Amino acid sequence: MLQHGADLRIIDHQGKTALHHSVAGGNIFAMQYLNETGMFSFADTDKFQITPLHLAASTGNTDVIRYLLRNNRCPADAMDQQGVTALHIAAEKGAAEVSWLLLQEAGLRILHLKNRNGLTPLDLCRQGTTFRHQQLTQILIKYMSLPADQKPKESYGMYYWTLMLPSVCGAVILLIAAALGGYGWIFCLLLFPWFGRSILSQYHRMNSYQGLPNPVYVGTLSAGIFHSLLCFSLKIMPGIWPATALLHVSVVHFVVVLWMFWKVLTKDPGRLQQGDADPRFSSIMSLVEANQNPSKFCIYCEIFQPDGCKHCRLCNMCVLEYDHHCLFLNHCVGRNNHRLFVVFILGMAAAHLIFISSAAYYLFTKYSGPSRPAWAAILESEAWVLVMLIMNFFTVIWECWLLTEQFEAISMGTTTYFKRCESVRRPLWQRWGTVLSFLLEGKRTTSRQRRSSIAI
Ligand SMILES: [Zn+2]
Ligand SMILES: [Zn+2]
Repeated sequence: MLQHGADLRIIDHQGKTALHHSVAGGNIFAMQYLNETGMFSFADTDKFQITPLHLAASTGNTDVIRYLLRNNRCPADAMDQQGVTALHIAAEKGAAEVSWLLLQEAGLRILHLKNRNGLTPLDLCRQGTTFRHQQLTQILIKYMSLPADQKPKESYGMYYWTLMLPSVCGAVILLIAAALGGYGWIFCLLLFPWFGRSILSQYHRMNSYQGLPNPVYVGTLSAGIFHSLLCFSLKIMPGIWPATALLHVSVVHFVVVLWMFWKVLTKDPGRLQQGDADPRFSSIMSLVEANQNPSKFCIYCEIFQPDGCKHCRLCNMCVLEYDHHCLFLNHCVGRNNHRLFVVFILGMAAAHLIFISSAAYYLFTKYSGPSRPAWAAILESEAWVLVMLIMNFFTVIWECWLLTEQFEAISMGTTTYFKRCESVRRPLWQRWGTVLSFLLEGKRTTSRQRRSSIAI
């Protein structure tokens, strides 16, 4: 439109500028682009003293709210002609997440601001009749009772409970199964698939206004490791005690895998820093002129992403050489931890195979004699080992699939997220060579590098 002579100075009959309209439309690239022209200020109001933040609160777009609150672009307590703040609008709509963002920025004092009719955001929220309004009313009542100079604190109680839930539920199911005796295995057979299904159908974020990542998946992985180790050390290990070589290897391997689990959970996946930003671009305008997709500008980190970089909303960072966000680690896999992740999965697969073979050996040595008891008796006394054996078996299958995907992407010199079908299929030995050099040296060989080395 600008190329065809559109005039950015024009305002509509309400006094709204192009920037106001870009906010109402929810387009952050347009907001950034208009801001770059230097003709607009985020503090600009229309004839009714309505700021961009008021407009964003009425659309409920949390990305736009975050953008406007960042770097003090818009004051969170600005009032319009009617004395209405953005929080009044959010509360009237029952928008808990928007209210949370505003309170985090401006503190609890904005809860006590009254509009021209003498109403606080809580009064407006109480007028709403939906479940959303009732939930937000409870939250606002709680915050109203706190000192006004505070900011609301994030509460992690529910987060840690969800993290522990799979381990606790697994233990409860196994204990009930043990108490049921001969019918315990049927109980496990019914309960564990239902439990697994209910975990896998969970959302990626917790169902609360804070929007914390859902830790139920990392809780499930931890529960699997915890219960497998418990079963191994309390049941299998004493049963195969003379087999010392197998035990030594197993214990050392489990310790190494646990160390890798900790490392992969805590290592930075490759957060994009300002110094690693794409040097070709410095503005949305330069992106548009170069005919590039505006999405190369990350609207959350406000940085120009180089190739192979992607923003993860759960980790809230741009990750270099992004592979995927692993829900079971609650962590991204990228440039800095990709090799560690693949080695960890290999270690996990080996640990699961050790568990399966030890459990099978344990059952074999215990029940292979001439006085073999009936199947019902084995099922009754060994339900724990059998259940863990089956679960470990399914986990190994899943890990094999995961490793296949990973090796395929690495052999192409890319990541699973940016993987494209290769036009020319390379011989198997060459692909395995690329995977091995990645695992040993940690360097990725891109298709472009490969082509140039062949040309040389
Ligand atoms: Zn980002
Ligand atoms: Zn992530």
